[in-house]
Amino acid sequence: MKNFDRILRNGRICDGTGNPSFHGDIGISGDRIEAVGRLDAAQAAEIVDISGLVVSPGFIDLHNHVDHGILAYPDADSYIMQGVTTSVVGNCGLSMAPVSAAYREDVRGYLKPFLDKKAPYSWDWSNLSEFFSCVTKSGITQNLAPLVGQGTLRIAVKGFDPTPATDDEMNAMKELLRAELENGAFGMSSGLVYPPGSYTGAEELRELARIVASYGALYSTHIRNEADRVIKSVDEAIALGEAGGVSVQVSHHKAAGRGNWGKVHATLRIMEEARARGVDVTCDVYPYIAGMTTITSLLPSRALEGGTAKMLARLKDPEVRKGLAEELHQGSIGEENWIKTLGWDNIVIAESGIAPQYAGMSLARIISERGGSDPFETFLDWFLEIRGEATMILSEMDEADVRTVIAHPLSAVISDSWVTAPSAGGRPHPRAYGTFPRLLGKYVREEKVLSLEEGVRKITSMPARKAGIRGRGLIAEGFFADLVVFDPETIRDKATFLDPHQYPEGIRHVLVNGQVVVTNNTLLGVRPGKILRK
Ligand SMILES: [Zn+2]
Repeated sequence: MKNFDRILRNGRICDGTGNPSFHGDIGISGDRIEAVGRLDAAQAAEIVDISGLVVSPGFIDLHNHVDHGILAYPDADSYIMQGVTTSVVGNCGLSMAPVSAAYREDVRGYLKPFLDKKAPYSWDWSNLSEFFSCVTKSGITQNLAPLVGQGTLRIAVKGFDPTPATDDEMNAMKELLRAELENGAFGMSSGLVYPPGSYTGAEELRELARIVASYGALYSTHIRNEADRVIKSVDEAIALGEAGGVSVQVSHHKAAGRGNWGKVHATLRIMEEARARGVDVTCDVYPYIAGMTTITSLLPSRALEGGTAKMLARLKDPEVRKGLAEELHQGSIGEENWIKTLGWDNIVIAESGIAPQYAGMSLARIISERGGSDPFETFLDWFLEIRGEATMILSEMDEADVRTVIAHPLSAVISDSWVTAPSAGGRPHPRAYGTFPRLLGKYVREEKVLSLEEGVRKITSMPARKAGIRGRGLIAEGFFADLVVFDPETIRDKATFLDPHQYPEGIRHVLVNGQVVVTNNTLLGVRPGKILRK
């Protein structure tokens, strides 16, 4: 008679392939799934009856920023409680390494708006392996799969210098990238709206993408423009895949700003056509109509050149202010222009470490309370006061577009969030707590935008395949026992923009590498997570 460490008995098994679910048992020994099917005669040290519940592979979040807060939240509380057992980190060009001695302060300034204030980062690492060995000292609960951020990589070689890379600089970047990929990074991310990503031209990206391709790794991109020039920007991402053979992931895909709503039909068609030509392009989406980023994204990137101190000095200059005001009003900049596209009303401060009293306030309200004859001047004065240190929520998307992208077979569903916990306070984007239960509650059960099996595929096997994560993302013999048990009738997100620190409902058990880490809404404090290598 077969013996297991643990048997999950009588569940509805949604195995991650997208195939119809079936009822059965799962036998687990050590960190692996050893058997799937009818295991009536088998024995185990622990048998968990999961009748009436769904068991699926642990959710894999292909796009988040857990690395920016993992030292403060080694349990990845807001993630593990929604069933995310693996996070792909280092996204949007914002990885924690490589770091060079020459530009250590620059990279700190670059990541500062994103890093959790409570996380005790020492900044004494130079590459991803060294960074993650700090992270794993006290153990982690989730598995983390690192990407190299192109922004971080460029800063390591030439700081915030906006000029094109010289041959020597290019070679230095390639060498650092190769070293990280050699060490198991899953690919490279870019954030082409954030300096220095925004300074990076097509040729430079192409050379780096070629190296990524030679490792069969992923190029994941926050494209140059998600608003007026979203179609062109998707074309740019695909062109990299076409020229260098790299596998492309268009991150948190959307058409931002009312005038652009509906363009996702065109961008998805462009991706389908590119796939037919042999380009491995896919996209991902978070299930909310508002996004969140740093407040510096409201200004053209040239205003940010040279880092924070230079930016603040520049914004005091009346001539610079006048030039910016004209550009923003006319909408003549080629970059995203949220003030013009969305208006002050639809931009709400999420958090500001330096001025927490503004959390939850719209820019319209901040400006009107301060008075003054010119809203943009008033905004800039306020921006200087808070030193540009705040994150904001942008109500930028159309619900119909979100549904269209979620329903499309080429999209994975992701959170794009930072990690948090109820004790953190502040107002993070609710996606930090609710993304995956929201997909399975709102979009699968309530609105029937897609089947349960398809919903589960988009957060398990699809991201695993795309990132090249082996042995995870499916319920199959020999795979790692990363599993989520949930109630398909009650699973739902509870976090809202006004009251975000709320765990979801309906997640019963979460297992990572064969160990139970969450049971009935309780985080057990077990830390079986691993740093994964490609
Ligand atoms: Zn991004």
